Amino acid sequence: MALSVQRPKGTNDMIPSEANKWRTVEQAARDCAERFGFREIRTPAFEETGLFVRSVGDTSDVVTKEMYTVSSKGEHTFTLKPEGTAGVVRAMLENGLMNEGFPQKVYYITPCFRHEKPQAGRLREFHQFGVEMFGTSSPYADADVIMLAREVLSTCGIESVKLNINSIGCPECRKKYQEALVEYFSARKDDLCETCLERLGKNPMRLLDCKVPKCAEIAKDAPVILDYLCDDCREHFEKLKAILDEYKVEYTVNPKIVRGLDYYTKTVFEFVYDGIGAQGTVCGGGRYDGLVSSLGGQPTAALGFGMGLERLIMTMEGEGVDFLDPHVPDIYFAPMGEKAYSVASKLCQDLRAEGYSAEFDIVGRGLKPQMRYANKIGAKFCCVLGDNEIESGQAKLKNMRTGDETPVNLDDFKNGFVPVLLDDMFELEGISE
Ligand code: ATP
Ligand code: MG
Repeated sequence: MALSVQRPKGTNDMIPSEANKWRTVEQAARDCAERFGFREIRTPAFEETGLFVRSVGDTSDVVTKEMYTVSSKGEHTFTLKPEGTAGVVRAMLENGLMNEGFPQKVYYITPCFRHEKPQAGRLREFHQFGVEMFGTSSPYADADVIMLAREVLSTCGIESVKLNINSIGCPECRKKYQEALVEYFSARKDDLCETCLERLGKNPMRLLDCKVPKCAEIAKDAPVILDYLCDDCREHFEKLKAILDEYKVEYTVNPKIVRGLDYYTKTVFEFVYDGIGAQGTVCGGGRYDGLVSSLGGQPTAALGFGMGLERLIMTMEGEGVDFLDPHVPDIYFAPMGEKAYSVASKLCQDLRAEGYSAEFDIVGRGLKPQMRYANKIGAKFCCVLGDNEIESGQAKLKNMRTGDETPVNLDDFKNGFVPVLLDDMFELEGISE
């Protein structure tokens, strides 16, 4: 029968057989973030539309083309979050966290929604691991955030991503630069796409990010921001590079990266993987010193990054690195007959209370299909409970990897002997919990 409803275009189901991939990247992200001193924050999946228009920028692709906006009973319009930073800044301000001393360091794992043309690595619902740091303009903070992203990637077994960095200056140095850009692109107006013509009047730096081939070709020879940096921005960038050099972090200065969102200042960076084509940017971030005050807070230096988890998983697959082992039960009981069922059920409850994962046949099938099922779910041990076993109180514990059988006394499950036996056997077999 054909399914009458299918998942929306550009979305994915995360099915149990893929769960270990998600656990791998999420665990790496959490562990690294916490080691670097970031604490978790969770914000709503939707916000008032104005928040994104003000923060992401009304000339960005995200705001002009990609937002999922709904109106709610004619009161407000709300938008599903297309990125994580705006909601975090709003939440930090609303909960008074910016008054609790600096730096404030938070991380999140969140779905994001953008109306894009779906392709591999470009989805309409995707997931980001992101971090934000508030209250420091030190280049050491920039380096720390970059090194955190790198740590997550290397914890996931990825060494072959390239780090590109750039500085896009502050509003002060950008003024002169934007004049130079307008002059450059205006002389080539006839070859620009319509969106770029519009951007030219509003936000000329956007033209550097255009993905239309003809525009990208023209942008190649455009003036570069690094030639226009003010002393403060130049010094910041030089110091950041010196710190990265000191820690032997390899990077390329790429004066063409400007990032997709409007709110960046000074440092911008991305980690790019060549193996997944046009969607190779696994992580993008930078400094956004002007954002907090533009959302009504005190002027507050800030920085962060967003890492696309689908792209991270694709990169890991591309590199052939291992994911965490899928979860498998420690023990599976195969009961035959009514009495054995109640014993198996009780043994499972006891073992679960002790912290083991235990299962028993719950659909009432024969012994053979039960053993097939135990194999399929990858149970480490199996214990058949028939009439004989129940009467004698003696059963056999089968190691499903080696086929070895060890006699056990059923009461020993309760008095802790079998759990200890299981532990010993896990250790002997090198089976990890
Ligand atoms: P791109 O240039 O690929 O469109 P972006 O500049 O729009 O990326 P950011 O807004 O910086 O991306 O988001 C941070 C990260 O989130 C990206 O580096 C990427 O890994 C991921 N990402 C962004 N958009 C998508 C999407 N539509 N599907 C999957 N991952 C995405
Ligand atoms: Mg984009």
